[in-house]
Amino acid sequence: MSERRPVAPNDLKAFWMPYTANRQFKSAPRMLVAAEGMHYTTADGRQILDGTAGLWCCNAGHKRPKIVKAIQQQAEELDYAPAFQMGHPKAFELANRLTELAPAPFEHAFFTNSGSEAVETALKIALAYHRAKGEGQRFRLVGRERGYHGVNFGGISVGGIVPNRRMFGTLLTGVDHLRHTHLPEQNAFTRGQPEHGAELADELERIAQLHGPETIAAVIVEPMAGSTGVLLPPKGYLQRLREICDRHGILLIFDEVITGFGRLGAPFAADYFDVMPDMIVCAKGLTNGVIPMGAVLATAAIHDAFMTGPEHMIELFHGYTYSGNPIASAAGLATLETYADEGLLTRGAEIGSYWEDALHGLRGLPHVVDIRNMGLIGAVELAPIAGAPTQRAFSAFLKAYEKGILIRTTGDIIAMSPPLIIDKDQIDQLVGTLAEVLQEID
Ligand code: PMP
Repeated sequence: MSERRPVAPNDLKAFWMPYTANRQFKSAPRMLVAAEGMHYTTADGRQILDGTAGLWCCNAGHKRPKIVKAIQQQAEELDYAPAFQMGHPKAFELANRLTELAPAPFEHAFFTNSGSEAVETALKIALAYHRAKGEGQRFRLVGRERGYHGVNFGGISVGGIVPNRRMFGTLLTGVDHLRHTHLPEQNAFTRGQPEHGAELADELERIAQLHGPETIAAVIVEPMAGSTGVLLPPKGYLQRLREICDRHGILLIFDEVITGFGRLGAPFAADYFDVMPDMIVCAKGLTNGVIPMGAVLATAAIHDAFMTGPEHMIELFHGYTYSGNPIASAAGLATLETYADEGLLTRGAEIGSYWEDALHGLRGLPHVVDIRNMGLIGAVELAPIAGAPTQRAFSAFLKAYEKGILIRTTGDIIAMSPPLIIDKDQIDQLVGTLAEVLQEID
């Protein structure tokens, strides 16, 4: 046997951390050791108010009893079941509950283990759907600048975040990008949906004409771009995308990994904006972030296009070892039950104006150049320090953590998306502490 290397259990070197400046973190680690309700507990025993629902995912807050119990029970009952002509009841139950919760056109759910995998699944379904209908020439995909669709190859190809793309070579071919919809000069400090920019959707028509509309398979957008700083769709923009897609037989995919499960004050962004895509990608809030799980919701038209060959043949050659995993399914069912019991999926609509007023109260504080909000999500954009982009927001994150609130930064933007159980006092604490932070950073 080859040599082995002893490693102390608390050594920080071995874990190559995701989406983290490893050297910076490991020189001054911030360890979270417990969580309950609206709070994290740190290794040094401090309580941190969760202003980000983990990573936009713990929509019902932390350590929710129903979810904890469901996971424990499921682990004792059935830990794992394979696919390949076998199933187990919880995955079917969850698909039923999920499609009941989704807008009526979405009759089918394909399970994955993450948002990234759900994105890949939706893109593959789109391409295979056109082939199944005899339109294999539709191979082009359209994404958008500043779009985030996870980190797998399809997702970074249609995604529009430059650092996520440029390390990794040629990516998928046949991909175009719409312009992003962030128009700071016209729309700064808008409450809710901005007025200006619906015409940016017309770029899809230009791309379609450039290549021939009959070559475009699908367009994927986040109805509200979360990871690049809470960029809200201009009024009429999504409707225009839908119209252009309809005109040319192009599928429209909404990536609702962040907007799904109540973030905007409705179950899905498709409800909120009243625009129906052909597929919805979701994850995160599906299991309250507790167990990794994602899903693609598809219409009957898409699903049924695959159900035409011999009955004993697999219709879609795609799936994961853990698709619809029993424990994840149990967590998903308990999560949806918790949302329903507590009315959380519409809570953003009820408390949204309090949130909006609190956030916009930060206008006029040092460095603040824009504030955006909707439901229970919001962003405060800071002027970058010349020559040191992202540093000001990062300082804000560090100071906020010291003062007991968790915020998230992306570039020079502070983003917040608290658990949907947040109360008015906690909104005051979150935004009040952020106000102190903004006054104290350079
Ligand atoms: N799409 C969107 C819109 C997201 O916000 C994310 C995660 N932040 C993903 C996809 C990827 O999800 P995951 O990290 O679970 O792969």
